[in-house]
This record gives sequence, structure tokens and C-alpha cells, in this order.
Amino acid sequence: MLVCKQNIDMGVCPLFYSAPSSVQDALAVLKSSRPRIIAGGTDFFPSQRAGCQDRNLLDLTRIEGFRGITQTASGWRIGAATTWTDIVKAPLPAAFDALKQAALEVGSIQIQNRGTLAGNICNASPAADGLPPLLALEAEVEIVSSDNRRRVPLSHFVTGVRKIDLAADELVEAIHIPTLPGDMTSAFAKLGSRKYLVISIVMVAANMQVRNGVVHQVRIAGGACSPVAQRLPALEALVQGMAVADLGVLDLGDDALFAPLSPIADVRGSAAYRTRAVAELCRRSLMQAATGGETIWTNV
Ligand SMILES: Cc1cc2nc3c(=O)[nH]c(=O)nc-3n(C[C@H](O)[C@H](O)[C@H](O)COP(=O)(O)OP(=O)(O)OC[C@H]3O[C@@H](n4cnc5c(N)ncnc54)[C@H](O)[C@@H]3O)c2cc1C
Repeated sequence: MLVCKQNIDMGVCPLFYSAPSSVQDALAVLKSSRPRIIAGGTDFFPSQRAGCQDRNLLDLTRIEGFRGITQTASGWRIGAATTWTDIVKAPLPAAFDALKQAALEVGSIQIQNRGTLAGNICNASPAADGLPPLLALEAEVEIVSSDNRRRVPLSHFVTGVRKIDLAADELVEAIHIPTLPGDMTSAFAKLGSRKYLVISIVMVAANMQVRNGVVHQVRIAGGACSPVAQRLPALEALVQGMAVADLGVLDLGDDALFAPLSPIADVRGSAAYRTRAVAELCRRSLMQAATGGETIWTNV
């Protein structure tokens, strides 16, 4: 385990940094000294505005088995130290295209190389780009402490703005995606004030199975339009059973289709703008998912 103790005589507190190589060591440190967990640090460090306030840090990125994506008997396991770039580069079925597309639009390449998917969901920002694709994949979060191991659906794990279902002695070990139909496709659409290095105004992810030109199964989730990203059950019910050819002329004028979203106005957009934008992004991502997607992975 890499441990670094430093007494920095610059008017700041002592720094204790540990980077264990086993989850047992990490959990022991967590239990004994209640450090602040970090992975890529891309949310953590910018949040420490007046110098580093959390002086006791537990870095999860060196733990064996925490980085990478593996296929399991029940689906897919994404380790907690898996970066956005790892996701883009991984050979994954088309159902993961939305997640890959989201990964390519997170910050810049430098942020994608450091930032992790688990860090994104644990940070629990309403604008976290990882949440809609993971909700559409029906992801579960695997949580460990030195005494317990549990799995929680992602939809229950993020409970509010910057709020997650995680005790002080627990950490997220992995994100699990249950087995997916082989013919499932997906798409992601993000609206920002520019293409890169931008916080989402609205984003949408859709996963779909099409059989004989008809939508057989659909999952659609919207983000940045409510405290926590949400699946859209009324829209899913409307689209299920529709002919793919009709998706382009889908009437999305009824706001009830977008419950339980509750867009707010902020510096990035008004509530009315978000309401219109989410409808348009839903249409685009549904059509893209239905046609198998046309995304070209360019920047890795
Ligand atoms: C310039 C810039 C641009 C960005 N652009 C985007 C963007 O476009 N879209 C977007 O969604 N985000 C963006 N972000 C935010 C950030 O990069 C992502 O949310 C990233 O995925 C966070 O991952 P991380 O590993 O760096 O998290 P960290 O900063 O290491 O951690 C974030 C939080 O999660 C906790 N945490 C991390 N891992 C675990 C774990 N395994 N168990 C328990 N708790 C844990 C930490 O304690 C901390 O509270 C941007 C950030 C920057 C600085």
C-alpha cells in the first residue's frame, strides 16, 4: 500500500494519502480513519476551492480488480476505477453505445483519461452524463464495507443532488449491468452550449430492441431535468409496440410523457427550454437507437 504522510508547514493541515492495492486494505483504512475517497479526482479537486480541505485521502485507483470491464455469468461488471476512456476502448455490445457516446462527451480527453464512471455516479450531480445511459442499462451498484456487501439498483443509489446511499465505512466496488438482449441497440444525445468541455443542459439515453420493424422493448432516461436522472415510463409505454417508421413523427407535445422530470431554470437554460429540448433529444435518441446508431468513435 502506498502511504504518504506529509506535514506541510504552509498554514495548511497535515496530509495523509493512501493508495492501497487490495480492497481489504482500503476498507481497513476507511474504517479506521474515515478518509475522503477519491478515484480520478476530477470532481473532488475542483470542489476544494480554497486549497485542499479534505486532508485525508483514500485513492482507489491502485486496487487490484477495480479497473476494467468484464463479462460475468449475469451480465457485465465495470470496476470502480474504470475510466471513461476504458469504456470507450472496451469491446462492448451495441447496447453500450449510449454509454460510450456519453463517455466521449465528458469534459475533454484528459478528463476522460482520469475520471471514472463510479466517481461520476458517486458525485451525484444532476448533470452527471453517466446516469441516463446506466439507468437505461438497468445498472446496479455493488457496495462493500469490512462487514457487508450489498447491491442496490442505481435508481435507488442516487437519492438526491449530491446524495447517495453509501455509509461512511462503505465504498463502491463495481457497477453491474444485467445480461442484455443480443439485439439491443442504444443511443445518447447531449445538449450543451458547445460540443466539448460543457455541462449538460439536457441529456437522454435510449436502449431499444426492434423486431420486424416494431419497437419490441425500449428504455429511455433523461438527465439534467430533475435532481436525479430518471427513466421515463410514460414515454416508454407510448413507444413500445410502435412502428420504427413512425418514430420521426411521434407526437411529444404532452408534458406528462416526461414525468417524473421537473426541469428548473438556471444559468444554462429556462425550464421551458429544457422541456422542449428533452422532447427533441428523446426523439433523436429513439430514432438513432432504432436504426442501430451511426456514431463514429473518433477521439481515442
Ligand atoms: C473540466 C471538467 C469537465 C468535466 N466535464 C464533465 C462532463 O462533461 N460530464 C460529466 O458528467 N462530468 C464532467 N466532469 C465531472 C467529472 O469529471 C466526472 O464526474 C468524473 O466521472 C468523476 O470521476 P472521478 O473518478 O474523477 O471522481 P472523483 O473526483 O475521484 O470522485 C467524485 C466523488 O465520488 C466519490 N467516489 C469516487 N469513487 C468512489 C467509490 N468507488 N466509492 C465511493 N465513493 C467514490 C468521491 O469521494 C467524490 O465525492 C468534468 C470535470 C471537469 C474538471
